[in-house]
Amino acid sequence: MHEKCGVVGISTEERSVSRSIYEALYALQHRGQEAAGIVTHDGFQQHEHVDVGLVGDVFDQSHIDNLQGAAGLGHVRYPTDGELGRSCAQPFSISFKGGTLSVSHNGNLVNTDKRREWLANAGHTFTTSSDTEVITHELARQLLDKQPVAGMRATMENLHGSYALTVMYDERVMGVRDPRGNRPLCLGKVDNGYVLVSESAAIDTLGGELIRDVRPGELIIIAEDGSSYSSHQLVETGQPAHCFFEYVYFARPDSTLEGRLVYDVRRALGRKLWEETGIETDVVVPVPDSGRAFASGYAEVAEGVEFAEGLMKNRYVGRTFILPTQGERERAVRTKLNPIKSTIVGKTVTIVDDSIVRGTTSKQLITLLRDAGAKEIHLRIGSPPIRAPCYMGIDMATREELIAAERTVEEVEADIGADSLAYLSPEAIAETLEFEFESLCTGCVTGRYPYDISGEKTDRPVKQPVIEQE
Ligand code: AMP
Repeated sequence: MHEKCGVVGISTEERSVSRSIYEALYALQHRGQEAAGIVTHDGFQQHEHVDVGLVGDVFDQSHIDNLQGAAGLGHVRYPTDGELGRSCAQPFSISFKGGTLSVSHNGNLVNTDKRREWLANAGHTFTTSSDTEVITHELARQLLDKQPVAGMRATMENLHGSYALTVMYDERVMGVRDPRGNRPLCLGKVDNGYVLVSESAAIDTLGGELIRDVRPGELIIIAEDGSSYSSHQLVETGQPAHCFFEYVYFARPDSTLEGRLVYDVRRALGRKLWEETGIETDVVVPVPDSGRAFASGYAEVAEGVEFAEGLMKNRYVGRTFILPTQGERERAVRTKLNPIKSTIVGKTVTIVDDSIVRGTTSKQLITLLRDAGAKEIHLRIGSPPIRAPCYMGIDMATREELIAAERTVEEVEADIGADSLAYLSPEAIAETLEFEFESLCTGCVTGRYPYDISGEKTDRPVKQPVIEQE
């Protein structure tokens, strides 16, 4: 089971936090649309409301009023093809001899089964297939005879994989990032307190200020009165493995990750895309909304080329991935996008998007634009071909579903029916982000993962060469 989510933890001085958590979850809605939850602590007891649905549907004013306390956690959960429903929604909470414990998790453990078996043999009972439940029990076990810092350190020694966690132990809110910093987590100052959250855009929403990213392997503990925080580097970090896909697709463009504003990164990637793959065209058209920043960067350096909207998006249709079957996904693209004829009829059109995963969107788009009268359609993609599954917490697709898994770029081009197709090189991503290539997790592109994955090798060569530009 994969968890691809948004997490929040807030602690303040004598101020109710439920409204702030609700607002932060609203800002993180793009990180998960299947379920949402808030847990607060009022000094005596926990209050919880967790359910399936969008943030705006899950909570009403009475929930916000009843979620009392100056400390709390929030979570939005991404749709998966695994177990759905209320039982897997988060934050995950338990009461144990040492107190109450809640955990919000973004990421994916790669040793869940082993650890669950070990804990089950030691007497723990599990009610879901979620790796978050395993983390919660592991931590509770350690907190029985250890202080929070030592307990978290011991927990981390037993967890392998990606995790950005917000944790509430009784009233105390903490946040921790896995030793490779695979999933994002940042710290911010808000009115009378501090917040730990997946993306900085949520801190902006709260009128707060981003302090910095939580470091890989670092634990931040917010003081119970919300007046300060402490930092504890729990494990040696070595080489980071930041997820490059956060920059390309997943994070909000107005968020700052590791000091880089995502919108600026995407525009810069768009400029690189022109340098590497530019082609003569009448008009550059973004695929809304994911391709917009890339397309504006691309068009900016493609001198003398018109940049125009050629696809109208129905903003009330959710991400196409929400729908479970392939047939439904294909229909959803048509429901979601409609061509703007004056931009494309009789023209050579270059459409720009961030990524191709299954190829559903691109195939449908090309048919749509051809039927509407485009003369030629060139597709430019602001990331390299996605050739391998993600085990680190992004719901990509299985290897069989990935259109580029076993195909060359020419074969994908023919399959989706474009006049030409070109991707950005992996090197361009590292260069633009100003990270060493090895400091990024590029598992979905290279098939080489930062953690050992059963059935995969960390140094597994991909079947096709990583990049095959013309
Ligand atoms: P596909 O149609 O399967 O090729 O998916 C590509 C489209 O979905 C692109 O427009 C992306 O912006 C978007 N996308 C990429 N990765 C994901 C993901 N993990 N979840 C949801 N949508 C995605």
